[in-house]
Amino acid sequence: MASGDGRRGHQDLVPLAALISREMKNEKMEKPTLKYGCAAQSKKGEDYFLIKTDCLRVPGNPSSAFSVFAVFDGHNGNAAAIYTRENLLGHVIGAIPRGLGREDWLQVLPRALVAGFVKTDKEFQRRGETSGTTATFVIVDGWTVTVACVGDSRCILDTQGGAVSNLTVDHRLEDNVEERERVTASGGEVGRLSIFGGAEIGPLRCWPGGLCLSRSIGDMDVGEFIVPVPHVKQVKLSNVGGRLIIASDGIWDALSSEAAARTCHGLPAELAARQVVKEALRTRGLKDDTTCIVVDIIPPDSSSSLPTSPPPKKQNKLRALLLRIKSRNSSSKLSKKLSAVAVVEELFEEGSAMLAERLGTDDTAAQSTSGLFMCAVCQVDLAPSEGISVHAGSIFSMSLKPWQGPFLCGDCRNKKDAMEGKRPSGVKVA
Ligand SMILES: [Zn+2]
Repeated sequence: MASGDGRRGHQDLVPLAALISREMKNEKMEKPTLKYGCAAQSKKGEDYFLIKTDCLRVPGNPSSAFSVFAVFDGHNGNAAAIYTRENLLGHVIGAIPRGLGREDWLQVLPRALVAGFVKTDKEFQRRGETSGTTATFVIVDGWTVTVACVGDSRCILDTQGGAVSNLTVDHRLEDNVEERERVTASGGEVGRLSIFGGAEIGPLRCWPGGLCLSRSIGDMDVGEFIVPVPHVKQVKLSNVGGRLIIASDGIWDALSSEAAARTCHGLPAELAARQVVKEALRTRGLKDDTTCIVVDIIPPDSSSSLPTSPPPKKQNKLRALLLRIKSRNSSSKLSKKLSAVAVVEELFEEGSAMLAERLGTDDTAAQSTSGLFMCAVCQVDLAPSEGISVHAGSIFSMSLKPWQGPFLCGDCRNKKDAMEGKRPSGVKVA
């Protein structure tokens, strides 16, 4: 997505024909209908969710509506989950420049999600409370689904063609070797709990803090290598639609992604959510807070439910239909041909914990209305002498100019260094 030098000039060079065909493609795809349901069983009272279907991209314009669905699974108390539920959406929207058209808005969304997650973490930590939370945050705009996630509350996609795919990555030290390596490289220690006699028990945790997750919002009493930088994935569904299942680990510790999709196949969304929770409890009992949101993205010309296809079988032919195509920025004839038959078009995926890789090199968005530069994370105005490029001092500064945006305020720069293990964590409580 990065476009390098001279972006403003190049933007004018997008061929008119390409713009027109893009618009025509959009017109052909009328907006889908959304049906959704939620079910939950509480054990500790630390799971929270958010369903908001009346968000507007352009204030006052109902045709710019989008929807947000999110699950927050708190730990060590519920304060971080509640704070994130109340503030994350506002922080994400605040990081999107005003006045963008739909396509541009969707294109900057992954970056805005990174900024919004980090800002929410920073603001919550400022309150001095020690709890933390997962956040799985899903934005549905027409056929485009964008998912940002820290922690292990998963979002899966069932395309009704028999293919179930994960739109999130589990940030669990036990299961995620890349995250173990990142935490260790940033100064954390990964190991199991030792009990009397030296025996090790339970899942892998990182120390200090003893958290099983490698990413979260909050958690000021653990190492700063537990970062709030989300994995982000953006996909565009074909006009047959699909079903999203967003749930906390109370579900996923009991059911695989495939089993969760299978158990509610063919049921309307409200019943489906209840059925997934029921099946998880039947399998494992109520061991943890258990929350499930089901969202059906339904073609406008069909009735009130997803077209019913035969229940998914283990058929590789069907699986092969789920082509994953990196289509953005790709103009080859081959990928155009493929996307015509693809069930799901992959627009964007990035999971790096490095802000320099996540906030991009595009500085067109970095200027506020007052003409000052803004911090790309917390959106405060920066004096000309104050901003530090996100690329300064990184390996990227060899190829990219350290005075090139986006810029960070001093505070956010400190946080970035701490997350990458370049600065001993100073703000932690003992
Ligand atoms: Zn900042």
